[in-house]
Amino acid sequence: MAQLFIGNEWCESLTRRTHPVINPSTLEKIDQVPESDSKDVDRAVTAAKQAQKEWKKIPGVEKAHLLHEIAQKIRNDNKEIAKLLTLESGKPLIESLDCVEWVAACFDYYAEIGRHERGFSLPPVAPHQVNFTIKEPYGVVACIVPFNFPLLLMSWKVAPAIAAGNTVVVKPAEQTPLSTLRMARAFELLPVGVVNVVTGTGEEVGDPLVRHPDVDMIAFTGSTEVGKGIMRLAADRVKKVNLELGSIDPLIVFEDADLEVAVPGAAWARYLNAGQVCTSSKRIYVAESIAGEFVRRFVEHTKTIRVGDPMNPETDVGPLISEEQLRKVEKQVEKGLKAGGELLYGGKRAPGLKGWYYLPTVITKVKRDNPLFNEEVFGPIAAISTFKTEDEAIEEANNSLYGLGASIYTGSLKTAMRAMEEIKAGSFWINDPLSDNDAGPFGGMRQSGFGRELGLEGLDAFRETKHVHLDYVMERKSYWFPYKNRSVP
Ligand code: NAD
Repeated sequence: MAQLFIGNEWCESLTRRTHPVINPSTLEKIDQVPESDSKDVDRAVTAAKQAQKEWKKIPGVEKAHLLHEIAQKIRNDNKEIAKLLTLESGKPLIESLDCVEWVAACFDYYAEIGRHERGFSLPPVAPHQVNFTIKEPYGVVACIVPFNFPLLLMSWKVAPAIAAGNTVVVKPAEQTPLSTLRMARAFELLPVGVVNVVTGTGEEVGDPLVRHPDVDMIAFTGSTEVGKGIMRLAADRVKKVNLELGSIDPLIVFEDADLEVAVPGAAWARYLNAGQVCTSSKRIYVAESIAGEFVRRFVEHTKTIRVGDPMNPETDVGPLISEEQLRKVEKQVEKGLKAGGELLYGGKRAPGLKGWYYLPTVITKVKRDNPLFNEEVFGPIAAISTFKTEDEAIEEANNSLYGLGASIYTGSLKTAMRAMEEIKAGSFWINDPLSDNDAGPFGGMRQSGFGRELGLEGLDAFRETKHVHLDYVMERKSYWFPYKNRSVP
């Protein structure tokens, strides 16, 4: 049975309760994990608070060595970690191996960025003054992570947070805690209490973590609905929050796009991880003049996608995370078709497979008020619409409450730059959807959240600025009391 990781010790929950983690492909139980509650949260936050007193003083270069060692340990154990990630999430093994490497690379990146600078020297306003800023850690950070990229989204928080001198309590999603706990063995390399992991549900563990008086900041990735609740709770104590939330991202295929590239690119951007990606291309807009050919090829390509056992290295798309998620997607497809969408392929559970599988699905004639364009669909559903002009495409892309990412296919620099300038999105991909770069900040506009992960901004998200003013000559100032000595102009 899996255990919690608190103060560098592996332990049971004080509740003694556990819940099973289910393999979404076979529906078999993989393991039992502790179901913590507020008492375990308190233990973990206390360990983190205690550890932070010393951790924040550790020189940057020493922290850098430790973060590189963590990266190395993750790489050494990559196969075992990736296998667990696939077993619990249904992510194809090939993607899990990629993920584990990205996680290690993220620790390497923040090992270096974390020791690069802690602030700036500023021009003073008078002689013999020195002004500078130093950036300080917040203290204890709660890192709350969703099921779809358990390790990657954990590393985007933990690596910069600890590089900045914070200590953390991680809460993985209840569906996918095992790979996180397995990866936590790499955190044994750190001083006691710098990283802690508690497991359980949002209500029993996430909520008390957000409310805990000794948690100074909350780094949350998940749905917009839960994010809004966290923001409300954080307001009570003016806790700092970084919110990475949901989205219904657009992908525009302009008239001049090379369909040899745009078709498989759009399919990957929509079906990757069975469509359970925050930045999945959930609204596809194709120029009317090429739409017939695009859709014909898109359906053909969709038929070639291999759906099945994610442990099989040849599988492209695995199962959805849960029966609940599968039912939700079924309902959303039903509503989308009722609202006028035309089903060209899929639209049902994958036949002959035991797990929570849904066929990659193509639906066209999706209009702007169709629920498929207005509710986030976390499943392999390609919803396609057409447009006549560049203006219309940009307007449709912006017709959303969200603004996490946007992708386009075009060979025209003018079109690409105009769309980039006018479309509201935290990431904008031209001819290469959904690519990340550790040095490139990632995050949302509008109701997709605020704050950034990755890049220098992703480090600054975990530190606050102190302005230091120093006068190296101790002298009485002419502008102090009494004012009677000063003349009124
Ligand atoms: P979710 O909001 O249901 O859960 C996310 C995490 O929050 C889980 O660990 C959950 O246990 C916890 N949680 C739930 N209720 C809580 C509460 N009241 N207090 C504290 N914690 C609570 O999201 P999910 O279903 O796991 O993930 C899918 C969602 O995440 C989608 O909307 C997707 O777009 C979004 N997402 C966003 C990004 C991004 O970077 N913007 C990345 C991945 C996923």
